[in-house]
Parts: sequence; C-alpha cells; structure tokens
Amino acid sequence: MTTKRTQSRLDAYERHYRDLAKELANVGYITSGSVALRYNRCGKSNCACQDDPTKRHGPYWLWTAKVDGKTVSRWLNEHEAGLYQGWIANDRHVRELLTQMRAVAAKATQLLLAEKPGE
Ligand SMILES: [Zn+2]
Repeated sequence: MTTKRTQSRLDAYERHYRDLAKELANVGYITSGSVALRYNRCGKSNCACQDDPTKRHGPYWLWTAKVDGKTVSRWLNEHEAGLYQGWIANDRHVRELLTQMRAVAAKATQLLLAEKPGE
C-alpha cells in the first residue's frame, strides 16, 4: 500500500507527465540538422569569386544534417528555409519535452521502487 502522501505525489507526477505527453502529441513535423546561409564559388574560372572571398555568390540557404552517420545537405529557397526552421524548432521542442518527461518519470519511478509490498 502506498501512503496518502506518496499517492498524492505520484498523482501530481502523473498529471505533469500526461500534460507533457499531450504537448508532445501536438508538435508539428520535426527535422534534424540545421539551416545556415552560405556564400559560394561558381564553376567559372574567370569569375571574381574564385580568388576573392568577398566576391562569392549568395547568400544561399543550406540545410545540413547527419542521416545514418552521413552528412546530407540541400539547397533551399527562402520559403523552404522558413519551413525548415520551423521543423527544426519543433525537433528541439520534442527533445526538451522528452528531457522533462524523463525527469518526471525518474521521480515517479523512484517513488514506486521505494514502495515495499504490503506496506
Ligand atoms: Zn562566380
């Protein structure tokens, strides 16, 4: 048996945990990686961008991520970059929620483990 005090703490952890899970359920699409602006050199040998870093082309948006241990990247237009930034922010939010859920679960499971059968 759990004491009243222990039970009310467990109930509070449960409510907090469920609130976090609900928030997690409402998160939009997620994407790993990051988006950054890049300046590029073109392929023309007579172009000023070849020798002068300040004459490079751009800026262009580039998404980069590790997928299965490999770095993948993709050039994006302004609109796509905005979408990616939203998905990347969602991804960060998911990780934050999981961290909080683990913390709440750790408190609850420690209480459950400390209970002795028939007590
Ligand atoms: Zn060039």
